[in-house]
Amino acid sequence: MTRVRESHTLSRREALALLLGAPLAAEACRGPRPRHYPGHLLGASSALGHRLRDASIEQLGAGSDQPPLGIAIVGAGPSGLSAAWRLERLGYRDFALFDLEPQPGGTSAYGTDGVVPHPWGAHYVPLPNADNSALLELLTEVGAVSRTLDGTIVADERALVRAPEERLFLDGVWHEGLFPRAGASARDASELRAFEAEVARWVGFRDAHGRRAFAVPMRLASDAAEVTALDRLSAASWLDGHDLHSPRLRWYVGYACRDDYGLDLEHTSAWAMLSYFCGRVASPGGRSQPFLTWPEGNGRLVRHLAGVAGERLWLGQMVSDVRVDAEGVRLAVFDANSKQLRAYRARRVILAVPKFVVPRLLRSLGPERQQDLSEFHYGSWLVANLHLRARPTSVGFPFAWDNVLYDSPSLGYVVATHQALADLGPTIWTYYLPLVGKDQKLVRRELESLDHSTCCDAIVADLGRAHRGLEAAIERIDVWRWGHAMVSPRPGFIWGGARERAAQSEQGAVFFAHSDLSGLALFEEAHDQGLRAADAALRSLSWPGAALAHAPG
Ligand SMILES: Cc1cc2nc3c(=O)[nH]c(=O)nc-3n(C[C@H](O)[C@H](O)[C@H](O)COP(=O)(O)OP(=O)(O)OC[C@H]3O[C@@H](n4cnc5c(N)ncnc54)[C@H](O)[C@@H]3O)c2cc1C
Repeated sequence: MTRVRESHTLSRREALALLLGAPLAAEACRGPRPRHYPGHLLGASSALGHRLRDASIEQLGAGSDQPPLGIAIVGAGPSGLSAAWRLERLGYRDFALFDLEPQPGGTSAYGTDGVVPHPWGAHYVPLPNADNSALLELLTEVGAVSRTLDGTIVADERALVRAPEERLFLDGVWHEGLFPRAGASARDASELRAFEAEVARWVGFRDAHGRRAFAVPMRLASDAAEVTALDRLSAASWLDGHDLHSPRLRWYVGYACRDDYGLDLEHTSAWAMLSYFCGRVASPGGRSQPFLTWPEGNGRLVRHLAGVAGERLWLGQMVSDVRVDAEGVRLAVFDANSKQLRAYRARRVILAVPKFVVPRLLRSLGPERQQDLSEFHYGSWLVANLHLRARPTSVGFPFAWDNVLYDSPSLGYVVATHQALADLGPTIWTYYLPLVGKDQKLVRRELESLDHSTCCDAIVADLGRAHRGLEAAIERIDVWRWGHAMVSPRPGFIWGGARERAAQSEQGAVFFAHSDLSGLALFEEAHDQGLRAADAALRSLSWPGAALAHAPG
């Protein structure tokens, strides 16, 4: 992680309004200025990323000053790490994994400096369905799942989210569960039932090839016209079309879109919204698969995958230029540790980086591919880890793993000590705030201009409404600003064509991974995209072990 230089351009009220919205910002500004909290402002190495354009192959002359590689993987987020895991498990060892950051994991990175490890991004993965054999294999290695003698998949108790799983702060009191039932009208309840019936209908759907409407990974889902048509609608207009107007139901569905996609109902594809509710339900009327989690969130999976890559994981290495030639691929790599630019040669490269980075690496892309890449949009998030000496006051239903505030633009917080069975004493809360429904470029710029104290100001104003004594309990607040946090499944993106074209290889030598190729920022998708790219690279090398790889669906 990188400590980021602070700058101040927005007034306090403007900054609070950016993070919390105008009404909450006005309320916070009426109170006294909060105290100063110790802590750091962290973030992806954007300063290094901005140097991408400067460091080109031309500066290196011909040839390579490093031993040649079979496959170079660029990006050690879950997709790049999964590509490396696939190569390793198939017996192909001639690869290296480059990441510009000093730690692996990308948006699934995690911290260790506190009473318990804690996530900086992704915090859970649902137990996969039986057809996701590759992810089940990984989770078995991690010890999170096993199979009984008759083949039944069983999740390890320590990885399953422990009860109580979630609670909601509404009208001054915490309540069990996420749907705002307290004070709900008969109309709210009947609209919830109507929504659930619609979800059950889509869970039961099978197309002419027997495929489900929604599956995880989404590559296994149906592309029948009646399913893909949902992508042309926003979640809001889908709800309108089904006469579902209950504010509580819309909050509940909107919460799901903010949580998984960082988008509001107006900007989420109805296909993506339904995928969230249907993709992990085995049969109509059934429950969604349970969640697997660890104190450090999906950082636990990152740690395992990084261990498999071992010495072939090279950190602080920013790839700045990738060129295809008759012998394969040449890469320019800036070593952030020694501040040197080096040339590498590889037979193939897997780009497991988000698509906004790709044109900066592959500088001679044709206009059609550039047009396709410009269809990928990314939302911004603010994530904070609050290190607390003790638990502040909480009224109503007791602390849960996931703690959500009804009347807030944030998603609330996840308690990192919950899975560690430590319900008393010091803890760490991971606070999540997606910046939704606004001009994403402008928000990114404004987010970059925020300082540490303004971010803390907003977080405490938000959570302090639900916890008397919070300020006194805080030991430190670390804040991470994610400018390009997640790909946005906006209406028309998932099935509009650009996403699928962008997954095709460039000149048979460059292969693309990254979860954004699925249009959904999920561990399962990152894993699947990494495997798909690794398999394709191996096949292009006519490597004998490639026959062992599953053919992509
Ligand atoms: C706040 C937040 C919460 C989330 N919560 C969840 C969750 O609970 N569950 C879930 O499944 N998913 C969650 N996600 C989604 C998460 O993004 C994915 O699960 C997963 O981390 C995506 O992996 P990836 O490899 O596709 O991409 P990334 O994580 O984006 O990794 C890309 C990597 O490429 C590297 N890179 C970029 N450019 C270069 C370059 N030029 N040279 C070298 N390296 C480069 C980056 O440093 C990074 O490590 C969350 C995301 C965020 C931001």
